[in-house]
Amino acid sequence: LIDLNALCDEYLRLAYHGLRAKDKTFNATLETHFDPNLGQVQVISQDIGRVLLNLLTNAFYAVQQRQKRQEAGYYPTVTVSTCHTSEGSEIRVRDNGLGIPESVKQKIFQPFFTTKPTGEGTGLGLSLSYDIITQGHNGTLTVDSEEGRGTEFVIVLPE
Ligand code: ADP
Ligand code: MG
Repeated sequence: LIDLNALCDEYLRLAYHGLRAKDKTFNATLETHFDPNLGQVQVISQDIGRVLLNLLTNAFYAVQQRQKRQEAGYYPTVTVSTCHTSEGSEIRVRDNGLGIPESVKQKIFQPFFTTKPTGEGTGLGLSLSYDIITQGHNGTLTVDSEEGRGTEFVIVLPE
C-alpha cells in the first residue's frame, strides 16, 4: 500500500531537479493539487513511479522546447493532480508545452515512436507506461492535447 499523493510529489520534484541538473537556466512552476481522500492504494510503487517519471520527463521536455521559442509571456508550468473518483484513483499530469499534433497523437503509445532527436528519446516511455497501467494494474492511460496549449495525461487506477 502506498500514498499516491506522496509518490506524485516525489517524482515531480525528481523529474524537475533531474532536468535542472543538466540545464541550469531552466525554470518552471510546479503545481500540485492533491486530493486528501485518495488514501492508500494497492499498487506496485516502482511501476507507478516509472510511469510518473516517463510522463513528467515528457512534460518537462515539452515545456523546455516551448520556452526555447521565446514567446512573449510564456512561462513553463507542470501540474500534477490527484482525485478520488468512482472509477478509482485518478492522476493527471499536465504541461503547457508544445502540445501534440493530431497526426502524431495516434502513434505516441507505439513502441519506438519518438519525435525527439537521436539520443534524446527512445520512444519507449509511453508504450511501457501504457502496458504498466493497462496490463499491470487494470487501469487506463489516456491523453488530451492541443498544439500550442499543452498536454494532459490521465491515469485511472481502479480500486
Ligand atoms: P520519447 O520521450 O523517448 O520520445 P515517449 O514514448 O515517452 O518517447 O513519447 C513518444 C512521443 O510522444 C514523444 O517523442 C513526443 O512526440 C510525444 N509526447 C509525449 N509526451 C508529450 C508531451 N507531454 N508533450 C508533447 N509531446 C509529447
Ligand atoms: Mg519519454
